[in-house]
Amino acid sequence: MAGKEKSVRDFTIPETITVGDLANRMAERTADVIKELMKLGVMASATQSIDADTAELVVTEMGHRYNRVSEADVEDILIETEDDNPEDFTARAPVVTIMGHVDHGKTSLLDALRSTDVAGGESGGITQHIGAYSVTRPNGVITFLDTPGHEAFTSMRERGANVTDIVVIVVAADDGIMPQTIEAINHATSASVPIIVAINKIDTAAADAHRIQTQLLEHGVQTEHFGGDVLCVEVSAKKHLHLDKLEDAILLQADMLELQANPKATPSGTIVESQLERGRGAVATVLMQRGTIKIGQIFVAGQQWGKVRAIINDRGENMKAAGPSMPVEILGWNATPESGDDFRVVASEATAREITEYRTRKALNDRNTVSAKGSVDDIFAQIKQGQIKELPLILKADAHGSVEAIKGALAKFDNDEVKVRIVHSGTGGITESDVSLAASVNGLIFGFNVRANIKAREKADHNQQDIRYYSIIYDLIDDVKGLLSGMLAPEVSEDLIGYATIRQVFKVSKLGNIAGCYVTDGMVKRGAPVRILRDDVIIYEGALKQLKREKDDVQEVKNTYECGMMFENYDDIKEGDVIECFERIETKRQL
Ligand code: GDP
Ligand code: MG
Repeated sequence: MAGKEKSVRDFTIPETITVGDLANRMAERTADVIKELMKLGVMASATQSIDADTAELVVTEMGHRYNRVSEADVEDILIETEDDNPEDFTARAPVVTIMGHVDHGKTSLLDALRSTDVAGGESGGITQHIGAYSVTRPNGVITFLDTPGHEAFTSMRERGANVTDIVVIVVAADDGIMPQTIEAINHATSASVPIIVAINKIDTAAADAHRIQTQLLEHGVQTEHFGGDVLCVEVSAKKHLHLDKLEDAILLQADMLELQANPKATPSGTIVESQLERGRGAVATVLMQRGTIKIGQIFVAGQQWGKVRAIINDRGENMKAAGPSMPVEILGWNATPESGDDFRVVASEATAREITEYRTRKALNDRNTVSAKGSVDDIFAQIKQGQIKELPLILKADAHGSVEAIKGALAKFDNDEVKVRIVHSGTGGITESDVSLAASVNGLIFGFNVRANIKAREKADHNQQDIRYYSIIYDLIDDVKGLLSGMLAPEVSEDLIGYATIRQVFKVSKLGNIAGCYVTDGMVKRGAPVRILRDDVIIYEGALKQLKREKDDVQEVKNTYECGMMFENYDDIKEGDVIECFERIETKRQL
């Protein structure tokens, strides 16, 4: 290339960059960059990414200058931030999640509300379930998230996605406030999302709406009827009664919230759900939050990216564009994103690749580094350093009385510098939803005479959250006291050594019931202290009196083996009960 002046370029190198983009930034031919790379022993095509160290060598070799960017800056540089022009803001539809106890009518209500859509009737389009839908009313539009359940709500929030503007809590008028109603109230309250109460099934003879409102008051939900500001509507999902009143209440609440968005901003939103479909490839429902998405735009969401090939609304209609608060299916992904992922339009395919590759590497790194968020040690350290003034707790216990007793005792610490805040409490085993809620508030989970179910345990393990078990109130209070004063981290006073499940109960006259068990975890030992769990609640604590393999007495039985068990002074056992075997740790805490 004699006679041709080569211009030296200055530019930044992110942590990863595609070969093509690097060539672009240097104003060099891609083929030349590939050649340079080959000299370094790196075989890469134009669309493949190389890391910054390699890029640096190539850039120097080709006579250009560069700046290195730290890992953390990558997203900032690639995703440009913009200032909204205040005049561009327009009102947007409220996004509503329906929660409540099982069988109180969430699904029925979602179906009933959907049928009130005035726009849907005209188009004659086939309604399809895409995880969310919009209802157009004469006085406004409402978007409903169509995946009821607290798990969906909280797991999205746990990931930082606050998409819900209003929570509608459904309570069956013939049933009343139930555990999941309380859970719903606590989930919504801890997310600071306003509640509207829908008292459902008012068509039934046993309906008593007044009683429901009184019960709600006991749980801190003060409806207008009782001088509060929580809107409350009586409906029948089955008979389609007063659905318009509920929608009016939602729109009224939305007005008070003054919900707005900028439809001219760079389009962004949140993934509601996604799946791989035959013939269509990866499909994801995106709830748009800012800007207006259009065909052909390049986007990223979590670790995935793509180019908008089609935009389809909840009636199955193809759209050219979709604005804030609209739920739409988007086609054109490289792979399926996860619900709760952030969706955003970016400038180019190269940018999309850089961001998603960076995120993939970061995720891999994060998986290998211990963050220990939500662990006792982490929270203890934060209290000690005066970083937190509040200890959020999720408390599950075997009986209502235990919950009340523990809450009462904890409330007495109220004048301490660090306070206990019970985010949620209830009876029964610890569920996945409890674990999500704890993660979203960075709190601890305490089980009193209850255990976590398998899914909850797996989730907590994955998040490295601690679940603390107690069977003596004094121990629980003592540990909290220690935590709050920054003096003592709770100590484990026992070692769980194994679990077994009762597969069959054998009645033997004179002897009583013998448990035919299968050891599922660790081992069980004769004479060791054991607990029997039924539906994750402790029903017995005592000792393992007898342990047999076939006909022989044995000292211990390991994981994956069958055995027979008898317990001291107890034989009221059932198939499906779980045996927890443990050892007491004798070391006394030093004060
Ligand atoms: P979900 O578990 O909260 O989703 O509750 P479903 O929507 O599945 O409803 C549970 C049961 O209650 C079903 O048998 C419904 O038919 C019934 N149901 C729902 N809404 C009403 C209502 O307004 N009136 C009456 N009588 N039954 C209802
Ligand atoms: Mg349902």
